[in-house]
Amino acid sequence: MAAQTLQLRPLGNTGLNLSSVGFGASPLGKVFGDVSEQDAFAAVREAFRLGVNFFDTSPYYGGTLSEKVLGKALKALGVPRDQYIVSTKCGRYKEGFDFSAERVTKSIDESLERLQLDYVDMLQCHDIEFGSLDQIVNETLPALLKLKQAGKIRFIGITGLPLGIFTYVLDRVPPGTVDVILSYCHYSVNDSTLEDLLPYLKSKGVGVISASPLSMGLLTEAGGPEWHPASSELKAACRAAADHCKGKGKNISKLALQYSLANTDISSILVGMKSVREVEENIAAALELATAGMDEETLSEITDILKPVKNQTWPSGIQQS
Ligand code: NAD
Repeated sequence: MAAQTLQLRPLGNTGLNLSSVGFGASPLGKVFGDVSEQDAFAAVREAFRLGVNFFDTSPYYGGTLSEKVLGKALKALGVPRDQYIVSTKCGRYKEGFDFSAERVTKSIDESLERLQLDYVDMLQCHDIEFGSLDQIVNETLPALLKLKQAGKIRFIGITGLPLGIFTYVLDRVPPGTVDVILSYCHYSVNDSTLEDLLPYLKSKGVGVISASPLSMGLLTEAGGPEWHPASSELKAACRAAADHCKGKGKNISKLALQYSLANTDISSILVGMKSVREVEENIAAALELATAGMDEETLSEITDILKPVKNQTWPSGIQQS
């Protein structure tokens, strides 16, 4: 019997329950190619209809376009505000990085206006490895706590690629300062290094969101975008894994998403979506995982193909002193 609804999972100590599949809205900023507003609206509507309650964006995606399109799409749903959870970010912009208290305090007002909302559920410092981590601890997070008190944001998060940034910050702030971390490209078939950090995050009561289960497009039949920072070796291995699946009549994206979803210590897997077709495929993959499990044979075959590049990543951010 097919599971009827997408699983909801608790997010750390926040009291929020996120859908296991979250809607990554960076594609709505045309980060992965052109998307019409009509297709974007339809994708958001279909995701919500199928049980997705969590939507993630940033002022950086498409130079504010993603926030604007997501805001309009959510408004068009015409449902009460407490039925969906919105995360946006601060500190990273088309113009560059600025994690100063002044900039992030102004940033939330700009985001709320673009999103047409009175508050966001999460405001996350975006890609903190590009700023001074000590500034994040001493200036940015205290500024975000004030925004929390002002009711503009409900919870505070930090995001980025190198996993060491999370422990650096969490070891230096009072408990309850950071409610959630968003990691990306570290819990997918080719790189599962986030797993080692999960017990630490759990001990701190910090919620975990893992983004980019398709390794920002590498684990799709179409492959990654031009700007993808992976090495040519990693790209080639993912291409070989995708071709192997295709040759067997299987879809690598489905298997990759299911692999990430299978770890229930992660509250939500954020996948970037830009069409009704992708939404329907991804939700179907999640529901099928809950009822029929994964295609373990093909998973083991692509794990073998990806073995030479397992856990290979790329540099991100500035050298911290
Ligand atoms: P992803 O791994 O989710 O891949 C997205 C790509 O896969 C897009 O091109 C999308 O159109 C395509 N896709 C989705 N479903 C598909 C399907 N069923 N078949 C074929 N192709 C499919 O990468 P992502 O979008 O970078 O990550 C997801 C979201 O997580 C982002 O949109 C963003 O919201 C968030 N994110 C945040 C950070 C950060 O805060 N630093 C970093 C990365 C991602």
